[in-house]
Amino acid sequence: MQLLDGVLVSAHIKEQIKQEVKEWQAGGGKQPHLAAVLVGNNPASEAYVGSKVKHCEELGFGSTLVRFDATITEAQLIKEVERLNNDDNVDGILVQLPLPGHISGDSVINAINPDKDVDGFHPISQGRMLLGQPSFLPATPYGIMLMLEYYKISTAGMHCVVIGRSNIVGTPMTILMSRNSDPGNATVTMCHSKTKNLKDFTLNADIIIAAIGRPKYVTADMVKPGAIIIDVGINRIDDATKKSGSRLVGDVDFDNVAPLCSYITPVPKGVGLMTICGLMKNTLLAAKLRTGKK
Ligand code: NAD
Repeated sequence: MQLLDGVLVSAHIKEQIKQEVKEWQAGGGKQPHLAAVLVGNNPASEAYVGSKVKHCEELGFGSTLVRFDATITEAQLIKEVERLNNDDNVDGILVQLPLPGHISGDSVINAINPDKDVDGFHPISQGRMLLGQPSFLPATPYGIMLMLEYYKISTAGMHCVVIGRSNIVGTPMTILMSRNSDPGNATVTMCHSKTKNLKDFTLNADIIIAAIGRPKYVTADMVKPGAIIIDVGINRIDDATKKSGSRLVGDVDFDNVAPLCSYITPVPKGVGLMTICGLMKNTLLAAKLRTGKK
């Protein structure tokens, strides 16, 4: 079994991005600038946004964190997004999800200028991706493709089972893995909460991509020996041995699945770090496209 090491791969990609930013600016290019919008004070969202802003500093990007109280209305938030759309210094806009229940995430995402949609969630970005046109790819699936590419895992002809059908992970993952590309060119099965006998599918998978949101849901008896396992899940479970009283685990029962498979991503230090790489690559691309150079 080989670990697909998010620390190693993200460090490599971040170094490449840093270099590219330096070269871009040395040639007169504008410093890429990411605006992160955070509504309320959900601790997980605070941590995710904090990490994205920290990565901007590390890679030589500018960043703005725009915070709003959870009581902001949908109309006010859309106005704020439009303000960022019109701010020429801002290249990429990300709205940290989930938003409070009274705000439609779709309406807010739809308000983002597609040229600044560095999370790749806007319908225009998703449509372009579906059609195989150049687009901002959703950051997590993009990061997973970068990870497979780094390890030179050729997925052509493999059977890939994606568990989960969200717009941000599961669905785009099925599109990217079935594309005529490498990695890609897989035969893809999408499973979800209404799938009957999930194990019948996973046992026939050469690659399992789990994006479910249920701790240790994919167990050893569901995995074909030699399979590749990509664990997207981030779940917090109680752990009395930890000072905090809890720890993060994925959707895969890592301890029992790892000995069986050929490659596996750990949680933490796996896909999560790759997601940031996807976001930062999109932001740099947005800066380049907006200012007319590639
Ligand atoms: P989601 O809740 O939107 O989607 C979960 C999907 O799992 C749904 O499509 C549902 O049909 C499917 N599902 C639920 N129960 C199932 C079951 N019993 N069998 C088969 N399928 C089932 O979640 P999401 O936003 O796609 O995120 C999934 C997980 O990935 C979460 O743990 C989330 O925290 C994590 N996540 C991680 C990253 C990262 O960077 N590592 C990024 C995004 C999401």
